Amino acid sequence: MGLGSDMYRQQILDHYKNPRNYGELEDPTFSHVGENPMCGDEIRMDIRLDEDNETINAVAFSGDGCAISQASASMLSSELTGKTVDELLEMDRDDVVDMLGVDISPMRIKCAVLAEKVAQDGAEIYRGELEVEKTTTED
Ligand code: ZN
Repeated sequence: MGLGSDMYRQQILDHYKNPRNYGELEDPTFSHVGENPMCGDEIRMDIRLDEDNETINAVAFSGDGCAISQASASMLSSELTGKTVDELLEMDRDDVVDMLGVDISPMRIKCAVLAEKVAQDGAEIYRGELEVEKTTTED
């Protein structure tokens, strides 16, 4: 892998060491938690919507786990601000891999997609389209 990959690795480490939007929102529209038991990653996502109930205007996350899982949550928290809930629900694992910018091994893909899955499940629960206590990557 060339220089580009090193740059992305640096970016992942930077997000891991200096997570963006880390913490909890005081007035989230919805919050959800999830885990990746394979690796021990845990993520909580807080999302606040605009008055239109559609546009994401603030995101915070907290959690614990490996660099990929936490960096992915940090990057996603930045990416989601300004997007709509529909756009969030349309995201898939390729979007997460693109965001991270490195090849993710099959073993680590669950670490990478945990935050996205937690945010999406949280949105579906908020819309009344899903009923789960906690998201898990084992499903
Ligand atoms: Zn992990």
